[in-house]
Amino acid sequence: MKTVLKSHNCGELTAKNIGEEVTLSGWVACVRDLGGIIFLELRDRSGFFQLVADPQINPDIHAVFSKLKTESVITVKGKITKRPDETYNPKLATGEVEVYPTFAQVLSEAETLPFVLDDENVSEDVRLKYRYLDLRREFMLHNLTLRHKVVTAMREYLNGQDFLEVETPILNKTTPEGARDYLVPSRVQEGKFYALPQSPQIFKQLLMVGGIERYYQIAKCFRDEDLRADRQPEFTQVDLEMSFVNQDDVIAMVEGLVQSAFKAAGVDVQLPLKRITWQEAMDRFGSDKPDTRFGLELFNVTDIMEASTFQAFKDVIAAGGTVRAIKIPGIAGYSRKDMDDVRNLAISFGAKGLAWITYMETGEVKSPVLKFLNEDQIKEIQTRAGAQNGDIVFFVADKPKVVFDVLGRFRLYFGKKLNMINPDDHALLWVVDFPMFEWSDEEGRYMAMHHPFTSPNLEDMDKLKSGDLGNVKSIAYDIVYNGTELGGGSVRIHSPEVQKEVFKALGLDDATVQEKFGFLVNAFRYGTPPHAGLAIGLDRLIALLCRTDSIRDVIAFPKNSGAKCLMSDAPGEATLQQLRELHLKSTVKK
Ligand code: ASP
Repeated sequence: MKTVLKSHNCGELTAKNIGEEVTLSGWVACVRDLGGIIFLELRDRSGFFQLVADPQINPDIHAVFSKLKTESVITVKGKITKRPDETYNPKLATGEVEVYPTFAQVLSEAETLPFVLDDENVSEDVRLKYRYLDLRREFMLHNLTLRHKVVTAMREYLNGQDFLEVETPILNKTTPEGARDYLVPSRVQEGKFYALPQSPQIFKQLLMVGGIERYYQIAKCFRDEDLRADRQPEFTQVDLEMSFVNQDDVIAMVEGLVQSAFKAAGVDVQLPLKRITWQEAMDRFGSDKPDTRFGLELFNVTDIMEASTFQAFKDVIAAGGTVRAIKIPGIAGYSRKDMDDVRNLAISFGAKGLAWITYMETGEVKSPVLKFLNEDQIKEIQTRAGAQNGDIVFFVADKPKVVFDVLGRFRLYFGKKLNMINPDDHALLWVVDFPMFEWSDEEGRYMAMHHPFTSPNLEDMDKLKSGDLGNVKSIAYDIVYNGTELGGGSVRIHSPEVQKEVFKALGLDDATVQEKFGFLVNAFRYGTPPHAGLAIGLDRLIALLCRTDSIRDVIAFPKNSGAKCLMSDAPGEATLQQLRELHLKSTVKK
């Protein structure tokens, strides 16, 4: 659309515009004075365009351009002309044409920027402090544009499937996702607090009770967690819920959604996606979000080790532990120091120790644990590993959770180190049949692995009632892409009786349930459709599609790892007056 200061976008002008009078506005990307003639690169969101000022041809403009600072905002008028062959730039979309402006005006002069926009080495702190400048960089513009395209495609897909986009409140009661809430003190209700939503979970289920049948929302969620690695205190989910569906219905719907999202990013996804059970994912990959772009699968040697004379392993097995192994090919030549590093790595991943068998290039088999194994056992390990000369097989013995975690991370470490991962592969799959509960050493009790509204597998109701919680499966599913959880969801409980059993298993008494989730539980007494849903982590999805490691690179104004906005300095202090109004006292000494 034409505006008063822009008849065209810089990046869209080509030879077919030659002869047209245009008004262009944008930022001065660079000014080059070549023997008196000034070439100015004008930049707007669409791209770059060359302006020329020649003291012989347009001296007034030359006078303006010669004083210009880069990144100032200017507007110009002039006629599109064909560039002479010498300055023709085939690399630039607009490289065939240029304008000798007849009018130029500085709309806003820029001071010298705190960093050069195309400096790749500028620190992230500086980028975040001056995020509005960082956004001018091509890479950030590209990421935000892709984000917009993907979100648009997802909205269009869901709209086409009869979903209603409904907003849910930000000022809430506590939510069930299990992280720490962000609290907002109430001024009018003394001593009371709202919690910001960790997800719209309860509201979307209430929308199903309310008869909406198909809901989605591009929802902001808030979790006050330690921001290790790549988390943000506020993040975005593509959140959806459906009535009268089972797991297969949701999976089929989400596959279509994910396919359209990837398509918007230029990636074709073949459907249906593979599904593996949680148990298989753990057994083979040591992870509930397996990266299946490469092999290095784990295998079980508990039975062999149980029959061996290796007391340390036998003790672990007797205590309910497991022994799993992984074969790493071609590293038999590792030095003693290399092996120390590998052992330290395993320990840093949580292993108490590491055992191994080395299949030397010479055919010799070396191992500190060889003396505990008989010939058949050694052979059987080699067969299960498919080990050849040059390989090393590593063993970890511990509780299953520790073993899978260590070997899963080990697998990823060697997959990367040995260049086994093709970055152009797209491995999307479903992990299904999650356990319903997870033992928490910290809390000394079972916790919900997903959230307490997830339906147990109804075949496991007896186990639920008899307290055999470790063996109750849930109807929960995660979608995984290249080793990252893209999203997860579940079939929900819609029967008050089942819900009661689950709350009981989680150690929540009636009073707590009423206080925390009473409005949901009560709603279920008035006619509740079977329902299920899922949420996709949008920031992570976009980061993966943009092939950046950091979700901060796909969020316009992210926080740093201290949950701080370096640009605005949020969180800020409150005045005593504000605190008083909110019935709060600060305990921070000034
Ligand atoms: N609310 C869940 C989450 O945020 C997703 C879902 O179950 O739909 O992980």
